[in-house]
Amino acid sequence: MESFICLFLTRTTKKFCQFLGFEFSKVEIASDSVDETHAFINWFLVTAPTHSSPFENIQTNIVFLPQLSKNIPSMDTIQIKDKMFTVSIKEQDILKEVTRVANEINRDLAGKNPLFLSVLNGSFMFTADLLKRITIPCEISFVKLASYQGISSTGVIQEVIGINEDLTDRTVVIVEDIVDTGLTMQRLLDTLGTRGPREIHIASLLVKPDKLKVDLNIEYVAMNIPNDFIVGYGLDYDGFGRNYPDIYTVVD
Ligand code: 5GP
Repeated sequence: MESFICLFLTRTTKKFCQFLGFEFSKVEIASDSVDETHAFINWFLVTAPTHSSPFENIQTNIVFLPQLSKNIPSMDTIQIKDKMFTVSIKEQDILKEVTRVANEINRDLAGKNPLFLSVLNGSFMFTADLLKRITIPCEISFVKLASYQGISSTGVIQEVIGINEDLTDRTVVIVEDIVDTGLTMQRLLDTLGTRGPREIHIASLLVKPDKLKVDLNIEYVAMNIPNDFIVGYGLDYDGFGRNYPDIYTVVD
């Protein structure tokens, strides 16, 4: 009688296969990742029969069930220039937290006509998803930090450019991608503070709490993360990687 197995691809599939001690002749694969499926088939046909004795008698009768539901390819590992990154926060998990933050802002700042100041480039994706979920009357503008070598003790001076709005008596929400040491945010607060706003709030997609060097009141945080370097969802490595919908962590 022909034995049959249906494998649903997960990260543990390979281990699971090695664990199975019986012979089978037909495999069906269901996966939402074409890349992963091809990698698996390759492994299955080439590597498994030679390195794992239970696979020696496999007849390679594979039925490939193509992508299940996604129209955007999902990749678990990516390479940008000289570095490898693995996916660490999926888009749907990011959006869940962005929705929570938006709800908090809708609740707290109702009636205050807040002005959202999005800090380019890194926060463009966060800003878009956040503002789509803001339901109270508000305005949005964009600023940028220009770094240049200055004659100072730190060497690099960051100037905030692009503040065209009158901030006098306004409720301002800074929308930032990530707070690491907090020095950039402190610089922003100092600059904006000279323009007479009524109140300044901070909304940051990510915070690395262990790296913070300054005392900041970051009221709206989507996610706290460890100290590792990340890319995706607006954040870059040397200009690349901003377009990925998921967040990736560098592999050591
Ligand atoms: P901070 O002044 O808080 O140390 O640094 C903030 C800026 O550093 C962020 O706006 C971002 O441009 C950059 N940054 C900090 N950590 C990361 C990271 O893990 N990945 C990327 N792509 N940029 C980061």
